[in-house]
Amino acid sequence: MRKIPPPLLMMRSSLSELRHFLEQRGVLHTRPAVFVDRDGTINVEKGYLRRPGDLVLLPGVGEALAQLNAHGIPVVIVTNQSALGRGLMDQAEFEAVSDALWRALRERGAYYDALYYCPHSPDGLPCDCRKPRPGLLLQAAVDLGLSLSRCFVVGDKRSDLEAGHFCGCQTILVLTGWGQRTYEEIMRAGDVQPNYVADSLLGAVRWIIDHLGTS
Ligand SMILES: [Mg+2]
Ligand SMILES: [Zn+2]
Repeated sequence: MRKIPPPLLMMRSSLSELRHFLEQRGVLHTRPAVFVDRDGTINVEKGYLRRPGDLVLLPGVGEALAQLNAHGIPVVIVTNQSALGRGLMDQAEFEAVSDALWRALRERGAYYDALYYCPHSPDGLPCDCRKPRPGLLLQAAVDLGLSLSRCFVVGDKRSDLEAGHFCGCQTILVLTGWGQRTYEEIMRAGDVQPNYVADSLLGAVRWIIDHLGTS
């Protein structure tokens, strides 16, 4: 009987080289990111925001995102925009608001790396991308090569926290926008507990940067 030799395995010379090899092939993602809700977290919640002139950034938002930029942590905005699906806003209006947001952040020395939005109405066929469903986060993770377990989700609604929990991200509730109401709701219901509650996006980012530094 012939003995079949075991296959030859080439061990890469170092673990960091092996990790790099796996990262390049998409087997191992180690890249964190911060998913940030838009309305009520970045800008003042105004219901359906369809005029660029109505966009007002919340205090400290420019500084918060600039800190993430300086640390090399991707910033991914994830936002439900059902006004599109409901026919209350057209694509050009949405893009004009997005341009205004981009310019307002650039004026403050900050930027975001990507913006994903769900255009669907909850009254239509169910989609995978309307938060609390995780489609926006999952798509971003594929596109940008993110490790979801190293990501953070910051938002003012229960749906932001639920999407984050589903994806194994750490979640932070901000008390801006609907945040105060959400806080009272989850305290009563005792579910979807965030990992941290911050008074604003800036407070959330300070916690994230501390947390990444020590984990
Ligand atoms: Mg919101
Ligand atoms: Zn959708």
